Amino acid sequence: MRLTNLFTKTSKDSPADEVSKNAQLLIKAGFVYKEMAGVYAYLPLGLRVIEKIKQVVREEMNAINSQEIIMTGLQRKEIWEQTGRWDDTVVDIWFKTKLKDDTEVGLGWSHEEPIVEMLKQYVKSYKDLPISVYQFQTKMRNELRAKSGIMRGREFVMKDMYSLHTSAEDLDNYYNQVIDAYKRVYDRLGIGSDTYVTFASGGAFTKFSHEFQTICDAGEDVIYLHRGRNIAINEEVLDDATKELGVSREELEAVKTAEVGNIFNFGSQKTDDMGLKFTDASGQQASIYLGSYGIGITRAMGVVVEKLSDEKGIVWPESIAPAKVYLIGIGSDEAIKKADELYKDLSDRGVEVIYDDRDLRPGQKFADAELMGIPYRITVSDRLLADNNFELTVRSSGETSILTHDALLDKLV
Ligand code: ATP
Ligand code: MG
Repeated sequence: MRLTNLFTKTSKDSPADEVSKNAQLLIKAGFVYKEMAGVYAYLPLGLRVIEKIKQVVREEMNAINSQEIIMTGLQRKEIWEQTGRWDDTVVDIWFKTKLKDDTEVGLGWSHEEPIVEMLKQYVKSYKDLPISVYQFQTKMRNELRAKSGIMRGREFVMKDMYSLHTSAEDLDNYYNQVIDAYKRVYDRLGIGSDTYVTFASGGAFTKFSHEFQTICDAGEDVIYLHRGRNIAINEEVLDDATKELGVSREELEAVKTAEVGNIFNFGSQKTDDMGLKFTDASGQQASIYLGSYGIGITRAMGVVVEKLSDEKGIVWPESIAPAKVYLIGIGSDEAIKKADELYKDLSDRGVEVIYDDRDLRPGQKFADAELMGIPYRITVSDRLLADNNFELTVRSSGETSILTHDALLDKLV
């Protein structure tokens, strides 16, 4: 990508009303555009990051045999009435609207009920189970407060997955596979070492649900950690969970966190409420066990920005960076020609490069490379070319090395 082709621009200022660091940096770097509080558009560089996060999640969900679908944003009221969750006093973040003929519909804030309803058409016998499906969807939630940038959107991207099983044991087994898959996801996003599987409220069949909570000062949650035993508990269930786990409050350390994922074992309650059953091997109607598993895609992106950025800007892990290399040519036509060649060479070899071919001072280019958080910066200049060398700088450490053309390719390809 040549920066002269990119319509977005970096800026020194972020909107005056934007208080969160993640949104300030993402807006300044031209990754997102703020439409209103809690509502952000994703521009070319931001979209690349989202797509990469989705791809990491997609690979891990496919690896545990889940199948990708896309449900609808508009939802039927009747489906949610079956479980009592159309009621605004039960679910207080609904956006609701009406069709021309006055039929009430909701904008999807979750897809648990619609997915169960959809699966009624396909699940009849024990031979049809287990099933796991997932989607990436823009969820709509009328959140009371939206001051955390992309970490709390009124419109945000979630990966939600649902699994159906013939028995509690089968669901348990899958649930544990999901926990492992989620750990791999957060590792690959660069936040694994600070992300804890946390006891939380909201289990239906089991007493607890499990949240994936990442230590983050900008997070809105507090968890209680026992680092030695690797136990983490959400404050909402602290009394219950400490009793259950045999730990005392004094042993636990309170830390601020952001919930980047949440998984639920619903048992057969929701499927029973909604009348989804299967015929077992003996021909009897039996209950289906349901698990529900969310990951906040855009929130995870915000958490990465919050945690890994420094005073110069964003620091993307290579796995989700919008490009691997930021290429800068400085000086004579000769140097620019070399930079052009290197851009073509790296691109041909499948390395994603942002080529800063703008007519700007080198200092401004360096500053933008740092603001955008691209993992490697290559500088091509007359001074370096005199010895046939290139300069490579690592964004995360600031470490700089002088490399020959071959050594550079070895390192990056
Ligand atoms: P919170 O407690 O932060 O409001 P939640 O528990 O209501 O979140 P879930 O229904 O568990 O959210 O949704 C699954 C995941 O979606 C969450 O773990 C979180 O990562 C993400 N998420 C939830 N609400 C938002 C939001 N408003 N903006 C961005 N991501 C969100
Ligand atoms: Mg949750």
